[in-house]
Amino acid sequence: EFGATVRASNKPALPGIQHVILVGSGKGGVGKSSVSTNLAIALAQSGARVGLMDADIYGPSIAHMLGNTEDRIKANQNKQMLPLERFGVKFLSMANLVPAGQALVWRGPMLHGAIQQFLKEALWGELDYLIIDLPPGTGDVQLSLAQSVSITGAVIVTTPQDVALIDAARAMDMFKKSSIPILGVVENMSYFVAPDTGTRYDIFGHGGGKRKAEQMSLHFLGEVPLDMPLREASDQGTPVVISHPESSSAQSLVKISQNL
Ligand code: ADP
Repeated sequence: EFGATVRASNKPALPGIQHVILVGSGKGGVGKSSVSTNLAIALAQSGARVGLMDADIYGPSIAHMLGNTEDRIKANQNKQMLPLERFGVKFLSMANLVPAGQALVWRGPMLHGAIQQFLKEALWGELDYLIIDLPPGTGDVQLSLAQSVSITGAVIVTTPQDVALIDAARAMDMFKKSSIPILGVVENMSYFVAPDTGTRYDIFGHGGGKRKAEQMSLHFLGEVPLDMPLREASDQGTPVVISHPESSSAQSLVKISQNL
């Protein structure tokens, strides 16, 4: 059980932080940041103390999804970064450091430095969960994180499409090789129910995430349908679990958070 895995580890991942949970995917665009953001908010709504760290340094979308790209991250006298806060979730995103529209041209060591600063030189305070939204794929950031803190586990987000599943399997393999436990698999964009007719369409196929989880002896954490409220909400900066709690995507995400 996911819950059992999380609770069994009682060694704090970082001072004051009980659990560090990575959210990863093989491919971009599968909904990893949407899932990270909504899970973080759902956990906070259940009473947990939650931080959300955007480790997608080149494509930071957390600040946008939380509706705060304007505020700049400040530091205290000890040069500790002060996380921003929205919907009860503390967060740090590169979008609040670098002016919008500017590209980051950083080499590996600088990337490593930024991640380390977000993790260790930020004043997160006491947290039950620090959710880390990883960049897609299997690169430097993942390794940098794996080597620097004790991680409770990783959640893998995939769509049911074969191309996404192949890359998701690669990500799972990377976590295994880095000795990071995999908490389970979320299938996003699982199906679509037309709001006018109620007809269901499996746009990207259906069930591939669950099959892949079974094949790899991993837990299946649940499926999230494709729907308009989720897409609109993330563009507007008010995540679906806040703005459309009645929608089926929000309800699925809350259910997934309860498995934590
Ligand atoms: P990733 O982090 O994997 O690149 P995002 O979370 O940024 O993916 O999602 C990519 C786009 O797809 C966003 O515009 C988001 O609003 C949309 N999206 C993600 N999941 C869903 C869903 N279940 N239903 C509708 N739109 C979705």
